[in-house]
Amino acid sequence: MPVPAQQAADDLAAALRAAGVEFDDSPLTRALYSSDASLYRVVPSAVVKARSADDVIAAREVARELRVPVTMRGAGTSIAGNAVGSGIVVDTRRFNRILDIDPAARTARVEPGVVHADLQRAAAAHGLRFGPDPSSHSRWPGGGL
Ligand SMILES: Cc1cc2nc3c(=O)[nH]c(=O)nc-3n(C[C@H](O)[C@H](O)[C@H](O)COP(=O)(O)OP(=O)(O)OC[C@H]3O[C@@H](n4cnc5c(N)ncnc54)[C@H](O)[C@@H]3O)c2cc1C
Repeated sequence: MPVPAQQAADDLAAALRAAGVEFDDSPLTRALYSSDASLYRVVPSAVVKARSADDVIAAREVARELRVPVTMRGAGTSIAGNAVGSGIVVDTRRFNRILDIDPAARTARVEPGVVHADLQRAAAAHGLRFGPDPSSHSRWPGGGL
């Protein structure tokens, strides 16, 4: 008979599979996502590789039903442990299109995994730039700001 923690992990995997969400609960991936650029270490139960809003919504529904925490994650460069958590970590790096830039309104619509430098390049073509200028800009998805 599985121990309770293993049962919970099996239930989570089964629910994510049933929801049609791409996820990875291998020991290697869970270890890789257990850290960000901080000193903190928290091993998640599963990592969802989101490609769309539907994936994020589906992961959130599974988390709500099973009462497990959800942590959103871009590049994991946060330095205060913000991008690690137990339960489900949702990696948005593949959910990363620039949907449109409206030069007149000076707005951009992007998906959360857009890398800041890519948005800057696209905005620069219209003589615009997106405000923040962190040194990690070539890595982190700035769309979530
Ligand atoms: C070497 C280095 C240099 C840095 N330089 C700077 C700098 O100059 N200026 C600066 O401001 N910061 C800097 N940082 C910090 C870090 O790069 C920034 O805070 C960056 O914006 C984090 O982006 P990320 O995509 O990696 O976020 P993550 O670390 O993945 O996540 C950060 C937080 O946002 C949340 N989150 C992520 N995606 C979503 C989403 N789609 N919806 C809701 N919440 C979400 C996460 O849950 C977490 O709480 C630096 C970090 C490093 C390691």
